[in-house]
Amino acid sequence: TVSIADLVAWLERASELLTEHVTELNDLDSAIGDGDHGTNMKRGFAAVSEALGSGEFGTVDELMKKVGSTLVSRVGGASGPLYGTFFLRLGTSQKGATELDAYSLQSAMQAGVEGIEQRGKSMIGQKTMLDAWVPALDAFQRAADSLPLAVQAGAGAAAQGRDDTAPLEAKKGRASYLGERSIGHIDPGAASTALLWQAAVETIG
Ligand code: ADP
Ligand code: MG
Ligand code: MG
Repeated sequence: TVSIADLVAWLERASELLTEHVTELNDLDSAIGDGDHGTNMKRGFAAVSEALGSGEFGTVDELMKKVGSTLVSRVGGASGPLYGTFFLRLGTSQKGATELDAYSLQSAMQAGVEGIEQRGKSMIGQKTMLDAWVPALDAFQRAADSLPLAVQAGAGAAAQGRDDTAPLEAKKGRASYLGERSIGHIDPGAASTALLWQAAVETIG
């Protein structure tokens, strides 16, 4: 099972990886957006990391409320409310839980992804972070009998989903202003989602 301490370790590792990849994420966003996605994610997760260090969390919901609200308030840009909503919904779907098994983690992440879809009025195939999240969750679900295998499968599918955004034309967010000129570039939000999954492999797998 995944404890609150495991979830904190996941988010701390995510913050490190996003910081390591800040230039790469900014460069991806420079090609089809405004070049700030790495900076946005680094700032948001640094604020999350700081908030987690100074807090005590008794339930998954309390933890995720802090994470989600910090991302919403500290990340300028479209990705802040979207990632923020993901973590807020992940928490509220598991009210009172103090740990998660593979099946409850699956349904929590599913609720989070539905939150992104509602808030973003978006769906798979539109060259967004959802093109990493949705295949990752499918792969996770298929392997959910084993938590470590499920996390690995999810991470592999997220990385594949990230790469598979390149041939897509963006239909949502800033990149959609480019129309067909968005084709041939990887979506920055899909790339940051793949990093969150990589952090999960290292901490909760
Ligand atoms: P901004 O575009 O405001 O500068 P960011 O650069 O931080 O914000 O984030 C851009 C990323 O947000 C995109 O690469 C995409 O993955 C994601 N995104 C943007 N709009 C949507 C949406 N409506 N639904 C899902 N994801 C979206
Ligand atoms: Mg941007
Ligand atoms: Mg911006």
